[in-house]
Amino acid sequence: TAKTEKTAIERYDPARDPNTTRRLRLSGDLRRAIAAGEIQLWYQPKAELATGRIIGVEALARWRHERYGQVPPDEFVPLAEQSGSISALTWVVLEKAFAQKKDWERQGLALDMAVNISARSLLDADLLGRLQGLLSEYEIDPGGIILELTESSVMVDAERAEEVLEQIHQLGIRIAVDDFGTGYSSLSRLSRLSVSEIKIDKSFVSNMLSSKTEAIVVATIELARNLGQVVTAEGVEDRATWDRLLDLGCECVQGYYLSRPMPAAVATSWLLDMTRR
Ligand code: C2E
Ligand code: CA
Ligand code: CA
Ligand code: CA
Repeated sequence: TAKTEKTAIERYDPARDPNTTRRLRLSGDLRRAIAAGEIQLWYQPKAELATGRIIGVEALARWRHERYGQVPPDEFVPLAEQSGSISALTWVVLEKAFAQKKDWERQGLALDMAVNISARSLLDADLLGRLQGLLSEYEIDPGGIILELTESSVMVDAERAEEVLEQIHQLGIRIAVDDFGTGYSSLSRLSRLSVSEIKIDKSFVSNMLSSKTEAIVVATIELARNLGQVVTAEGVEDRATWDRLLDLGCECVQGYYLSRPMPAAVATSWLLDMTRR
């Protein structure tokens, strides 16, 4: 038929690929959304397993696009990295997270604030200065701030990353290795880095009771203990996994079982309610 003929002779045109259109449109719109303050932070609480006490939150970026609706951070963070708006994104996220932490402190909520930092931002020459600026602007105890970095981000320029991590550590800010187990960091490097926490990736945790991934969870808990690092399991979705992690000696947990990420106002009432009990 005429239709198949046309398809056969038509060359691939990236501009006509609906995925390309979406990416191009999102890149431009993301830049504007960041500048216009349209990136929101949602917060997911983190608990100490043995006591059930809420000890902190992780800030997670959210973006609602007028046409596409909620765009997941797994899509727009890489897009920001590719299109040159990652520093702008990192700065607005840090600014919002610090302001929220201060606001909660005023309401009597002393909680750790964990912020995700992409590899590119770790190597950004402005990072240290920005962090110092925010710490003094909001008069925040640096020990209450945790920067979460993926294993692979620390491997991009390993020497430089090691240096920056040490400087961040000197500021008193804590570092967590995120998505542990999914990257390729060598154990000897991990022991040298100024890291105070390991977060076991949810892909090993959420189904650990019915799969061999429990062995990875067990090994990571042991490793963290030997390195003197706190270990957090992410992706805890049910009571049985919570209990098993407690038996295994895991210190902290995050996951849908405790709570899904919440918008700031919802998180505030949730946190006030939980800490009043
Ligand atoms: P992440 O840092 O590993 O964050 C945890 C992700 O797991 C979040 O997805 C969270 O909503 C989800 N999650 C939490 N508990 C559970 C659970 O029990 N089960 C399951 N299945 N999922 C759970 P989210 O918010 O979509 O974020 C995805 C990723 O995007 C994050 O992974 C992080 O790598 C990145 N990201 C988010 N916000 C930022 C940001 O502000 N800056 C940077 N650089 N990256 C960010
Ligand atoms: Ca994280
Ligand atoms: Ca993670
Ligand atoms: Ca992740």
